[in-house]
Amino acid sequence: MSKIIMKTPLVEMDGDEMTRVIWKMIKEQLIEPYVELKTEYYDLGLVHRNATDDRVTVDSAEATKKYGVAVKCATITPNAARVEEYKLKEMWKSPNGTIRAILDGTVFRKPIIVKGITPFIPTWTKPITIARHAYGDIYKNTEMRVPEGSKAELVVTDKDGNETRALIHDFSSGAGIIQGVHNIDASIASFARSCFEFALSERESIWFASKDTISKTYDHRFKDIFAEIFESEYKEKFDEAGIEYFYTLIDDAVARIIRSEGGVIWACKNYDGDVMSDMVATAYGSLGLMTSVLVSPDGVYEYEAAHGTVQRHYYKWLKGEKTSTNPVATIFAWSGALRKRGELDDIPELTSYADKLEKATIDTIESGVMTGDMAALSKLENKRSVYSEEFLGAIAERLEKLMR
Ligand code: NAP
Ligand code: MG
Repeated sequence: MSKIIMKTPLVEMDGDEMTRVIWKMIKEQLIEPYVELKTEYYDLGLVHRNATDDRVTVDSAEATKKYGVAVKCATITPNAARVEEYKLKEMWKSPNGTIRAILDGTVFRKPIIVKGITPFIPTWTKPITIARHAYGDIYKNTEMRVPEGSKAELVVTDKDGNETRALIHDFSSGAGIIQGVHNIDASIASFARSCFEFALSERESIWFASKDTISKTYDHRFKDIFAEIFESEYKEKFDEAGIEYFYTLIDDAVARIIRSEGGVIWACKNYDGDVMSDMVATAYGSLGLMTSVLVSPDGVYEYEAAHGTVQRHYYKWLKGEKTSTNPVATIFAWSGALRKRGELDDIPELTSYADKLEKATIDTIESGVMTGDMAALSKLENKRSVYSEEFLGAIAERLEKLMR
């Protein structure tokens, strides 16, 4: 059998600890036998980030902008303990933060659904994808305690020095608290475009919600920017794709999500996304089954697993012990990136290979063979918890049959 030939390189960002070990296994056992991998390789492992003064992270993000698609392994975000452990020159910033800033992207978290692992909300038979606007609001706030007898006002000084004032509250009858928050039109617009791009890419409808009935200027601005960009740039494309953009109030969105069967993308303001992404992720079960895609407003994609480097398993592995680390989200990061490359470069064999890789993975779990974290959740009677090697071996066998 001849291997599938790629046209444009895929940006490959290698990472750290247990996920780095699994990364190599996935490539060798599941991908390289079928695809003549053409990647531009960036080693984002902490040792190499430190050696390059973190230049490699910036270079990998620039390459992603150039080629359009990347796949990333989980990486260590250094803290004081890591500085000591790796004898780092500096406490380097989070690679995900650096890449997101360069791509101006939004992160979409999507669970992988398998039979036997039922979400806590049993009607959620399809994935709910959460997008969180990662700029502003209470995450960049200014707040104060206000003593009794004070008057608090909002003051804006324009470029010519003219002041506009509005009373927040007169604290003459008691002390209290105030908070100043902001957002930026351009950031909201980037968020909206990333959301509409991703909805088209996934062919799924997208919901956005805020509290514009109460916040008639602030939240209303979000609603208006989304509506303007949708009408002028995306409406026709959505009609062609048979998907919709739906705006509602945040409390109505929560009620509808709970009653839904899933299968939608839910775009959230910063705080709503922080809270709801934890709720949705927990409801679907394992971190090892959660994927994450960073999408830029101009349609550049970076695929990864949502979990970290699984440090605890890595230390066992270093001692020569076998671990039952779940590789599924990392496999789906690869399949997502290869499918996108196949779509953009018009290589149907590559797209079809990505589908088969996902099918082989899901069929393996549904046949009862899975890693420990999934076995703890699965309701299958014949379930068997196996080490990562055996699990990957079982997927490789199925994939071979599918590819024949
Ligand atoms: P983690 O790597 O996600 O792991 C936390 C725990 O969740 C694990 O100890 C394990 O539980 C379970 N788990 C997560 N993924 C799993 C998988 N694939 N298979 C089986 N179990 C899994 O988070 P962390 O331990 O807090 O962070 C470790 C490192 O990852 C940190 O240095 C952090 O900076 C980094 N991190 C990177 C990213 C990223 O690159 N996107 C994201 C988050 C964290 P048990 O131990 O109970 O088995
Ligand atoms: Mg949170």
